[in-house]
Amino acid sequence: MSELHKFIFEGLPVRGMLVRLTDAWQDILARRAANSETGAYPAPVRQLLGEMAAAGVLMQGNIKFNGALVLQIFGDGPVKLGVVEVQPDLSLRATCTQVGEVADDATLSQMVNVHNEGRCAITLDPQDRLPGQQPYQGVVPLFGDRGEKLENISEVLEHYMLQSEQLDTVLVLAADDKVAAGLLIQRLPIEGEGNLAGKADSLMRESVLGQSEDFSRISILTKSLKREELLGLDAETILHRLYWEEPLARFEPLMGEIGPRFACRCNRERVGQMIRSLGTEEVEGIIAEQGQVEVGCDFCGAQYRFDPVDAAGLFTGLPTGLPADVPGGSVH
Ligand SMILES: [Zn+2]
Repeated sequence: MSELHKFIFEGLPVRGMLVRLTDAWQDILARRAANSETGAYPAPVRQLLGEMAAAGVLMQGNIKFNGALVLQIFGDGPVKLGVVEVQPDLSLRATCTQVGEVADDATLSQMVNVHNEGRCAITLDPQDRLPGQQPYQGVVPLFGDRGEKLENISEVLEHYMLQSEQLDTVLVLAADDKVAAGLLIQRLPIEGEGNLAGKADSLMRESVLGQSEDFSRISILTKSLKREELLGLDAETILHRLYWEEPLARFEPLMGEIGPRFACRCNRERVGQMIRSLGTEEVEGIIAEQGQVEVGCDFCGAQYRFDPVDAAGLFTGLPTGLPADVPGGSVH
C-alpha cells in the first residue's frame, strides 16, 4: 500500500517526510501500458515520472494549502512534458508526453534538457479559485548555478525550494516499475537568524550554528541513503537505519483512504468543454472524417466518445447524450 510518513527531529529545527508509492504507482504504469496508442513508458521515462510523482506527494504533504500541487517538466528533448498533479487529500495522477526515441540508458538531460532550455514548473492551484485569480507558479531551469545541466530531478527541486521558500532541503528520489519513493529533509527557519550577521549576540550565534550543524549531520545521513535501499526497504527500516541515533518523533503514517492513491479527475463534462473550445468547424470536420469525436484521457486512459448528436449538443448548449427523440434534445 502507498504511504506517506512525516516526522520531526525533536528539539532540532529539522523535519522530514518519506513517501513510498506502490499500488498508486503501479496503477499509473498499468494504465499507460494498456494504452494501445502509446504503450508502456521506456525505463528512463518511467524513472523520471516516478521520481516526479514521489516529489509531488512530498511537496504537497509539506505545505498547508487547499488546492492542487502540479509539478511539470517542459522538455526540449524527446520527452516534451511530464505532469504530476497531487490534491490536498494526496490523490494523484501523472503522465508523460514523449515524441521521440528514448534510449534505454538516456540521462535526464538527454530526455528533457538537450539544449539547456528545459524547465520545471511548480504550480499551486487553489481549490476555490476566484474569477481572475491566477494560480501561483514558480519556474526553475534544469541547470545549476554555473549553467551545468542537472542530471537529477531532486537537485532541480532542491534549487526550487531554496529559491522559493528559502529553505535548505535535501531530497532523495528513486523509481522503478514497482515503487516510486522519496525522502525529504528540510531545515526549518530559526527566529532571528536573518539578523545574525548584524548582531553580535554571541549566545544566539552559538545556538544557530549548533542547529545548523544538526541539519548538516542529518543531511549527510539522508544523502547516504542508496537508491536500492529507498526502493527495496520499508519505511521503518529506512528511518531506523539512517536516524537511529537521532531524536526522531513520528506521526501516524498516511495510507489507504487518507494516503497517496491514484485518482483521475477527468469527466465527460470537462472533455465536452475541451471539444467545444475547438469550435464548430473543426469538430464538424472531425465528424465528417471519423464519424465521431473520440478523446482519450492521458492520465487514466478513459475514452470519451461524442457521436454527431452529442457533438452538436455541445454547441447548442443542450445536455449531451440525450436521445434524439427527447423533446428539445433533437438536433436538426
Ligand atoms: Zn482521466
